[in-house]
Amino acid sequence: MINPLAEAVQARRFCYVVELVASAMKREAQVLEIAASLATMPEIVAGSVTSYAGGRFGQDPLRVATAVRARGLAPNIHLTCVNDDRRKILSNLKVLNALQLFNVFALTGDYPAESQSKPVFDLDSVQLIALIARMRADSGIPFHVATAVSPFKYAREDCLYQYLKLEKKVAAGANLAITQVGWDARKFVELKRYLDERAIGVPVLGNVYVLGRRAAERMAKGLPPGCWASPALVETIRKESEAPDGGLEARLERAARTIAVLKGLGYAGAYIGGTHDADHIAHIIARAQELEPQWQECAGQLQFGQTGGFYLYESPRPVRRRLPVIALALDGAGRMMPVTRDTWLRRRLTSLSAWVDRRPVLRRLTERFEYAIKRPLFGYEACGNCVLGQMEYVCPQTCPKQMRNGPCGGTFLMRCEVIDQECIWVRVYQRAEAAERVNGLKTYIPAPDRSLQGTSSWINYFLGRDSRPGNDRSLSNTGGISSES
Ligand code: SF4
Repeated sequence: MINPLAEAVQARRFCYVVELVASAMKREAQVLEIAASLATMPEIVAGSVTSYAGGRFGQDPLRVATAVRARGLAPNIHLTCVNDDRRKILSNLKVLNALQLFNVFALTGDYPAESQSKPVFDLDSVQLIALIARMRADSGIPFHVATAVSPFKYAREDCLYQYLKLEKKVAAGANLAITQVGWDARKFVELKRYLDERAIGVPVLGNVYVLGRRAAERMAKGLPPGCWASPALVETIRKESEAPDGGLEARLERAARTIAVLKGLGYAGAYIGGTHDADHIAHIIARAQELEPQWQECAGQLQFGQTGGFYLYESPRPVRRRLPVIALALDGAGRMMPVTRDTWLRRRLTSLSAWVDRRPVLRRLTERFEYAIKRPLFGYEACGNCVLGQMEYVCPQTCPKQMRNGPCGGTFLMRCEVIDQECIWVRVYQRAEAAERVNGLKTYIPAPDRSLQGTSSWINYFLGRDSRPGNDRSLSNTGGISSES
């Protein structure tokens, strides 16, 4: 079966994907009408069907995607970890295979807006990609996996971790990256240079969002999470919106210029959002072609970053930090009492753990003892699959989305998308940098075995029951990943 998106990307042909927001506000018939008109445009290789965009419920993306394909447009389905655990995700992937829908956009997803049910966040986006890649390898299903990256982060730790996490996603099996929205050519340059310098050949689509006044004003407040419009951009758009056409021409022109810049920089294509109007999209594409020779001039006009914000190749390196005492002490203890490799101590502790594990009272006491130590130090929640050692002694359960492989895309100037706290990954990055082990953060951390919640991770570790790097037991209770339903 032909997959226009995968083909265009492989052939290195600049291509277009248009976001189809299947929100509850939009009638499904409207989305399908749009898909039918986009299908007549050969440059457009896929319609990206959203799921849970902005943390709000929408139409069933599987149903919409099937109908989109029937209108002649290849769908790219957004698959998030918001409401589905790994079992449900596996079952959705099997349904996708049965329907021969192979393009997926694997995302952690936005935290649900208030008043909606409690989210699941059983997996993070890297674990989701690894799961799909494993199914692809084991069952030969030709899933084509897109992932998200945001270069538009203006705090050092946020930005560097985004890039590091993209490396993890590519290593886990992503075929394509799509950027978050942004109007800063220097950041598009930065991302491309980062990948080129490391010979990371993942093709990247740049996000080209046709930004109107209302959306710009929301983004100025960081809504939806991860989307940000600078005060200068908002002001420009306000002025443009006073024109007789309400600023339409200026909006389309900015989108066309962005595409010219992406082409000039060697991006694989453009991911167009913010408009569903086929005439507008055709206009943008045609105008971008005209602007191609002037792409550098266009880049000069696309300068809506944050004043004083972080730019990897321009900002000075910060003063080196010191490791906090707790991390120094734990590092020292780890060196003095090596238990991560086969030592006499590890063998003794393994025998002791097995002995304690056979005695329910002692087992429970050990768990309570572990809790009493770790809770005040790390905010520990007794998940039973401890990865503090791989996360610079920061507990993943203190992240509202329980991410184990890096920050979500919702960070804003080091603050958390969900609650009023610093994003936990800022501390992870700073500590790793202070200890000169940033490369260690590229280690893939599998999803925890949730059946171990409330048990002692010490016992689980020595008995090899927990899920951690080198002992991936994330699928041990799911019945496997065979493509058979
Ligand atoms: S702590 Fe960081 S990764 Fe976790 S939800 Fe908040 S912003 Fe996202």
